[in-house]
Amino acid sequence: MSSHLIPTYAPPNLVFERGEGVWLYDAKGDAWLDFIGGIAVDSLGHCHPALVEALEQQSKKIWHLSNMFEVPAREELAQLYCQNSFADLVFFTNSGTEAIEGALKAARKYHAAKGNPERIEIVSFQGAFHGRSYGAINAGGNPAYMAGFGPHMEGFTQIPFADEEAAKAAISKTTAAVIIEPVQGEGGLRAAPHSFLKLLRQLCDETGAVLIYDEIQCGAGRTGKMFAHEWAGAAPDIMAVAKGVGGGFPLGAWLTTQKVGEHMVVGTHGSTFGGNPLAMAVGIAVWNEMSKPGFMEHVTKMGQFLKQQMAGLKDTHKDAIEDVRGSGLLTGFKLKDPYQNRVVMGLARERGLLCGAAGDNVVRMAPPLIITEEHARKAIAVLDASLIAAKEAL
Ligand SMILES: *Cc1c(COP(=O)(O)O)cnc(C)c1O
Repeated sequence: MSSHLIPTYAPPNLVFERGEGVWLYDAKGDAWLDFIGGIAVDSLGHCHPALVEALEQQSKKIWHLSNMFEVPAREELAQLYCQNSFADLVFFTNSGTEAIEGALKAARKYHAAKGNPERIEIVSFQGAFHGRSYGAINAGGNPAYMAGFGPHMEGFTQIPFADEEAAKAAISKTTAAVIIEPVQGEGGLRAAPHSFLKLLRQLCDETGAVLIYDEIQCGAGRTGKMFAHEWAGAAPDIMAVAKGVGGGFPLGAWLTTQKVGEHMVVGTHGSTFGGNPLAMAVGIAVWNEMSKPGFMEHVTKMGQFLKQQMAGLKDTHKDAIEDVRGSGLLTGFKLKDPYQNRVVMGLARERGLLCGAAGDNVVRMAPPLIITEEHARKAIAVLDASLIAAKEAL
């Protein structure tokens, strides 16, 4: 029978029945090591006991109220986010794209409220990915994601990633906001140099533009700090998060300073499902797990270990691997021509390892943050075998 699903995806012929920690199992009980984690979402692995407990408990109380009514856990999670970041205010969403929409709207609203409604220009970077809504595809600027969906929206400019001169030229007193992923995910795991984020902060301060970080993929502890930009010491005015903050439950948010966000008053924005009790319960549990002593140190250590192992892999496969990319446990390697990331990904899957593909011919890994050295060694061994198989098949 043919599928009734809109064919925007082409998944392999493989069905998982359950997950536990870093492992996924099919109905026959065959196991796969999950080093993509629902694309950086399953941050604590599958069915983490603390998350199962939080969801189960809340599921017996209240599922949904909408934002018509207060949800104490909403206030609680917002407080956790704000007490531990640059932010003063939070708006909860169900996805990353919605968090980006909110962030872009808040940035423009800020200028409008200050008497500059014409200040709408959003500066973004080549290779960016910000989601699939109209605002997000225009900010992302990927021609393939915009083709066929009508005219490009006014007020979006894109410049080369981490290019200081281009940033200096593009960011001016007419710029509403600059939006950047501190570590690009989809675009090929490129990490912005800390000095570049500092420069953006400086240029935004000088011009009054709003600095937005898209930490949907690189946040939630993935680089060994709760938010990736903490490594650079350059805070944004607004930040979008999602993916890993829900540990597998749909949850996103945009966080903002009081100064920028305070103009989003009653009637300016909304969401039916955003901040629902189930998402809040899980979000708090995720935060608490990641805040435990030693958690981030573990991520950093595992990230370094994986990077080291990949450097070894690169030495063995000089003909195939161009460079090792990413930060912490958002990591991978770029393949040389004629090797193809999707081919290597498929060969790895046949050998029991799930990894992903990113732009620029990159093999992407975003495993649960709870992996051990043993998991990492196993993943590298499978990638080694997969690269040998890929070479044979060339
Ligand atoms: C995944 C992602 C998005 C979009 O999030 P969705 O939850 O798919 O809407 C936006 N920005 C970045 C950096 C992402 O990785």
